Amino acid sequence: MQEQANEPTRTSNMLSKMMEIGSKVQPFSKESRDKAPRIRDAKVVHSVCPYCAVGCSLNVYVKDGKVIDIEGNPDSFINHGTLCPKGSATFQYTINPSRLTKVLYRAPYSDHWEVKSQEWAMEQIAQRVKKARDESFVERLEDGREVNHTLAMASLGGATLDVEENYVIKKLFNAGLGILSIENQARI
Ligand code: SF4
Repeated sequence: MQEQANEPTRTSNMLSKMMEIGSKVQPFSKESRDKAPRIRDAKVVHSVCPYCAVGCSLNVYVKDGKVIDIEGNPDSFINHGTLCPKGSATFQYTINPSRLTKVLYRAPYSDHWEVKSQEWAMEQIAQRVKKARDESFVERLEDGREVNHTLAMASLGGATLDVEENYVIKKLFNAGLGILSIENQARI
């Protein structure tokens, strides 16, 4: 992320000038005079939309150590300040009281979720992947051809995966575990 100083009160100054246009001060209410943009005094941190490979540039507004707004970066030659619906929702994605921050597990036939540690979840995933692979791995077909694959497992990636993650997925799942069905919803 690259940080730059925000232009603190540009909108406010414009408002003041508009009030003084002509020979008379315009009849703005006190509320209008006191209005300020929500990003006043915030710092702008440039970032990149996490959703897809278009790579639209974001202005992340930070105040008192907290992200208070995220908008498209008008100086970007990629998106010129625009964002698609997914990119426009980046703030809600980042700052959201409903966002899960703990591992939740619902056991088979259970009617409730249990909070688990991340270590427990990783161990469960590793054990289940190994079990499924052991039970379904095929070294040779009936005609003797060597295939070394499993058709019981698959991987579906998303647009937020970066190049390095996709490389590891392909290496581990395909070359390492013998999974054939590896897909990604991104179509750029
Ligand atoms: S998801 Fe939308 S806003 Fe984000 S990079 Fe892709 S096109 Fe741009």
